Amino acid sequence: MLKDNIKIAAQMINNSSNTWVLTGAGMSTESGIPDFRTPNSGLWEKIDPMEALSRNVLYNNPTKFYKTGYCILTQMSDFQPNEGHVVLAKLEEKGYINGIITQNIDNLHIRAGSKNVLEVHGNTRTGSCTDCNYKVELKYLTKKIQNNEIPPKCEQCGSSLRPDVVLFGDQLPKEFDKAWEIVNECELLIVIGSSLTVSPVNYLPQISPKVIIINLDKTHYDSYADIVIRGKAGTVLNKIFNSIQMENNL
Ligand code: NAD
Ligand code: ZN
Repeated sequence: MLKDNIKIAAQMINNSSNTWVLTGAGMSTESGIPDFRTPNSGLWEKIDPMEALSRNVLYNNPTKFYKTGYCILTQMSDFQPNEGHVVLAKLEEKGYINGIITQNIDNLHIRAGSKNVLEVHGNTRTGSCTDCNYKVELKYLTKKIQNNEIPPKCEQCGSSLRPDVVLFGDQLPKEFDKAWEIVNECELLIVIGSSLTVSPVNYLPQISPKVIIINLDKTHYDSYADIVIRGKAGTVLNKIFNSIQMENNL
């Protein structure tokens, strides 16, 4: 992690009046939630999330979905925001960033105090009816699963309820269209903890005029970035925050 890169990143953030952040699973590994693709610790080593968390399995083999992939979703509530989430909330509060576009479904940005958060892959707070769109708390859905009501039924119309998480094979929610518009108009996008392998989110860095990537491993889009900082999200963000404060004599 070059000291100069931290300083340049801080200057880029200071000089931009429209900065957005795009986060992925690597943002939350320091909270204890495994990402998908880090060798040895990634979830991919244990199960195939593209199957366990797929629309196909949810609709064609709901028992398998609720006994495998669904458990990954419900476990997300056991974790706490880390240093990186907290710094991002501070950067927003102080007006250095405009908001966060997240692929994560763990609610940790909101719990850390970030206000402007676009969850482009959904969330693990709620579920909804596949027919009438009736909303329920995810906990309510989990209770039904524990009572072996699979698939869980909507009390309004009798159709199936499902979690409000974007599964492999699902269409993206309207939040993604909003994220696209935002990045199209932003000055700077900071990508943190994402391998940038999941489409169409990985197109976002290509439409931003300036890009900073903060990630432990290489990504396919490193060549698009003005700066790439290899390091842990929490540590790097803390250093950038201190550098911004120093630049502004705070
Ligand atoms: P990914 O697993 O494909 O990539 C994560 C990247 O983060 C890797 O390149 C890794 O090197 C990097 N990384 C890991 N720990 C880091 C750290 N402490 N600091 C900096 N970088 C770190 O994740 P993805 O690109 O987000 O794609 C996976 C999909 O699965 C996304 O939709 C994602 O939201 C979802 N997912 C979400 C969670 C969650 O909500 N916490 C967890 C697993 C997967
Ligand atoms: Zn319904």
